[in-house]
Amino acid sequence: MSSTKHDLIIIGAGPGGYVAAIRAAQLGLDVGCIDENKQLGGTCLRVGCIPSKALLESSERFEEARDHLSVHGVKVDGVQLDLPAMLGRKDKIVNALTRGIDGLFKKNKVTRYQGHARFNADRQVIVSQKNGKADVLEADHIIIATGSKPATIKGVDLTLDKVDTSSDAIDYQNVPDHLAVIGAGYIGIELGSVWRRLGAKVTVVEYLDRILPGMDSGLAKDAFKLLKKQGLQFELKSRVMGVASHDKGIIIERNGGDPIEADRVLVAVGRAPNTTELGLSEIGVKLDDRGCIPVDSDFQTTVKGVFAIGDVIPTPMLAHVAEEEGIACIEKIVTGYGHVNYDAIPAVVYTHPEIAAVGKTEDELKDEDHEYTVGKFPFQANGRAKAIEYVEGGVKILADKKTDRILGVHIIGPHAGDLIAECAAAMEFGASAEDLARTCHAHPTLAEAVKEAALAADGRVIHL
Ligand code: NAD
Repeated sequence: MSSTKHDLIIIGAGPGGYVAAIRAAQLGLDVGCIDENKQLGGTCLRVGCIPSKALLESSERFEEARDHLSVHGVKVDGVQLDLPAMLGRKDKIVNALTRGIDGLFKKNKVTRYQGHARFNADRQVIVSQKNGKADVLEADHIIIATGSKPATIKGVDLTLDKVDTSSDAIDYQNVPDHLAVIGAGYIGIELGSVWRRLGAKVTVVEYLDRILPGMDSGLAKDAFKLLKKQGLQFELKSRVMGVASHDKGIIIERNGGDPIEADRVLVAVGRAPNTTELGLSEIGVKLDDRGCIPVDSDFQTTVKGVFAIGDVIPTPMLAHVAEEEGIACIEKIVTGYGHVNYDAIPAVVYTHPEIAAVGKTEDELKDEDHEYTVGKFPFQANGRAKAIEYVEGGVKILADKKTDRILGVHIIGPHAGDLIAECAAAMEFGASAEDLARTCHAHPTLAEAVKEAALAADGRVIHL
């Protein structure tokens, strides 16, 4: 079989792979990018971040129109849900964005291959198409960016009817009467919120004694209270042992309580890297015990010339992390320089209000015996938050006690996901809390709450 040679082959066209492909093309490489899906963009665009955010927005508008407009003096009667239209809007957004990546590939002259890629040798990949045809591709550099898939737990079979993953839960054709969610992480909280707003009873079963593991425990406590007030039901300290599906629904067996009956169950207990069926062991790429691919500081695997980025490596499974890793990996290959600062990675949960964080949590600082100061400011005291009627939550800034350098920022409140960008930029520049406090912020904006929290870190908050 004859082969086609590129400078670089990327396996996977999710946020890690497609962004790396574009950056490589910008730097003059001839790039081939392989994905088995017709739609480019990976989990994030097709069945993850983008469709879930579309539904979070629509469901929030629905709930607001139904329950929260009268305070503005807007009377609305007979608000009704048109679920097919809501799902249709989501699909339209996904189609437009995935087609956009096709356009970006054309513009940057990235060659696209559709099929399943498998290593044949260190620098050779076979791309098998569904119709039985195959392409053989060769390159000096190959990047594995195959992403992840929903994980499950013992006793929970994802192939059973009504036992769903996030990909199913963005496309329910009817609002379930009772949706059970296993796992109070990002996915459980976000998609649980969507279906609660649309009318489902939602019970989130979580085996820890808290929600959102990994996030600052104070922030998670505040989020828990707000989400509970909105009507999400939580069963904490409750480990799911098994799920059975029957005609009318499902039964969840758990430790720490009676079985739970529901119409459907969404399994949101994390994601597993897609590192099987790629022929990795045949060429000597080593995996860790979780199936991830360990890499060195150049993102190179245990095989020279074979690199890995995104959800397949043991770094946070976030689309924006994959993008940064893709760019750093390419820049390392082409220019010799490239870096990801894992200390300034923002994380956002797109509930209402949003929950956002960057840097260290208070729990981590305590564990490290790191002396720090805390500056807090509630949105209740922010003029813009009052004007838009979203006053829940606040900003918390953690700064080094001696140097005042910002160590972490944790926000729960309106547009927290956008507000955290300023804090991540400040951390990238090694800013102190005083730097943020001395920066002029437009009035009236939500961002003033960030400035006030920075002032509070020095005991000189103005509006409290
Ligand atoms: P997660 O790791 O965030 O949360 C999983 C939860 O399941 C944990 O709280 C865990 O304690 C719980 N759990 C595990 N086993 C259990 C059991 N037997 N019984 C009850 N609870 C159990 O995972 P996720 O929410 O599935 O998200 C997967 C990945 O996708 C994450 O890495 C996340 O970063 C990413 N993601 C990010 C966003 C975002 O950035 N907004 C949105 C969705 C997903």
